Amino acid sequence: MIYDTDVVVIGGGPGGYTAAIAAADLGKEVVLVESAEQLGGVCLTRGCIPSKTLIHVVNIADSVRQAETMGIVCEKIGFDPGALAAHIRTTVDDLADGVSRLVKNRDIEQVQGHARFIESNQVYVDGANTIVRFKHAVIATGSRINELPEDLDAGLGSDVWTSDQALTVPEIPSSLLVIGGGYIGLEIGQAYAGLGTRVTLVETSPHLLAAADPDLVQVVINQCKKQFDAVHLNSRVTKITRTDTGFGVKIVTENGETSDDFAQVLAATGRRPNTTDLGLSALGIDTNDQGLIPVDEQCRTVLPHIFAIGDITAGPALAHKAVRQARVAAEVIAGKKSAYDNVSVPAVLFTRPEIAWTGLTETKAQKNSIPVTVGKFPLSALGRAKSVGRTHGFVKILTDPDSEQILGMGIAGEHASELIAEGNLAIEMGACLEDLIVSIHPHPTFSEAIMEAAEAARHKSVHLMKPQR
Ligand SMILES: Cc1cc2nc3c(=O)[nH]c(=O)nc-3n(C[C@H](O)[C@H](O)[C@H](O)COP(=O)(O)OP(=O)(O)OC[C@H]3O[C@@H](n4cnc5c(N)ncnc54)[C@H](O)[C@@H]3O)c2cc1C
Repeated sequence: MIYDTDVVVIGGGPGGYTAAIAAADLGKEVVLVESAEQLGGVCLTRGCIPSKTLIHVVNIADSVRQAETMGIVCEKIGFDPGALAAHIRTTVDDLADGVSRLVKNRDIEQVQGHARFIESNQVYVDGANTIVRFKHAVIATGSRINELPEDLDAGLGSDVWTSDQALTVPEIPSSLLVIGGGYIGLEIGQAYAGLGTRVTLVETSPHLLAAADPDLVQVVINQCKKQFDAVHLNSRVTKITRTDTGFGVKIVTENGETSDDFAQVLAATGRRPNTTDLGLSALGIDTNDQGLIPVDEQCRTVLPHIFAIGDITAGPALAHKAVRQARVAAEVIAGKKSAYDNVSVPAVLFTRPEIAWTGLTETKAQKNSIPVTVGKFPLSALGRAKSVGRTHGFVKILTDPDSEQILGMGIAGEHASELIAEGNLAIEMGACLEDLIVSIHPHPTFSEAIMEAAEAARHKSVHLMKPQR
């Protein structure tokens, strides 16, 4: 089969399917190539959606447990792993079907198979024996899991979980060793702890989540200390062996080597871009030392008719960044003036409590000697937080001391994932403290904490004690 098309999109994740739909809506003929059976990519099928579905279920149980002090009587809370797994699967399948319908609705031609460039205007799709000739291409092939190093992996094969397996909830193990203290390890570790598993976390670096400010991370660490059996920082797993009941693991910590048994092990040791098997170097498109494809503000590679978006480009490997780039690429292909010139990309951890930040962080401000004023408001002083029993955390706002322009926002606590959008909009619009203060925030809501943090930056929050002068 041979197709001639305006645009070929390689990869049907959030970046790829958004680019395909946006280009079709702008009048372009589009062929979308995806190697997996379902559309949606890692985010929908193995990442954002299944993980947040699992976390939501665990949070419901946690809320019920906490509500015992509020007068709710509940004898016993338990989990049915089969029903939980089915719920996650159905959620994913429904959304993936929805994406397929959106693609069909635009008359986008979908081809299943592995695409590889054979010319600068042709890709061959392995598995479908198809050639697609194109005027423009959008590469959106995403990322894959880093396998454990060979010395650790010897003979274990797929016995050790990755996030892919953990999110299908094949069982609720009695104990789980999480290798890796990034957001995936923390989110899944906390979710299993909430299901009743005894969790231990090992991280090689001295800090969890180096990209976030320490005060935000500390809120999560405090919770992990309560939920987890142990958190080993500056530590390394040196050996994993199969035992009758699970795995025997050697861990070198700051205090020496320990050996322990775990029913299950989760390797959450990062991801790398899918850029090695695309025929890129023959086209003259080189990747950097991390395997990422360099692009300009319009998401063009060195070949102006070939674009790259999402996890295979520099910047945070997050679905919303891929989606924004997808729109830019589609608009540029359609001849519009468009650029990926966003000032900030929000980052969210769906931990308990959630943390989120956007724009400038305090750590970055200090490192680069950028003067900032910081206004901070604790949720313990917020009526809504008290009324729902979720007072851990705070909102902080970083502003330019002279102009009071909002430069960054960090939130730890309930609904941080939703609230951070206001901070992001404020930064993108060049808003100042005054804008957040005079905009009426509905009462009683968590959003008032943003207004209060803006007032705190001017030492004018009526719900905080007057600062000692
Ligand atoms: C456990 C987990 C939780 C996550 N949680 C979040 C979250 O809460 N929020 C968030 O923003 N991000 C989250 N992410 C990250 C998010 O999933 C990615 O940033 C996002 O999926 C990137 O989108 P993409 O379109 O670049 O690539 P992907 O979603 O990886 O899609 C790429 C697609 O391309 C296909 N493909 C690859 N090579 C080829 C080829 N040669 N031919 C044809 N098809 C090909 C793949 O099969 C895949 O379907 C999470 C990731 C994981 C693993």
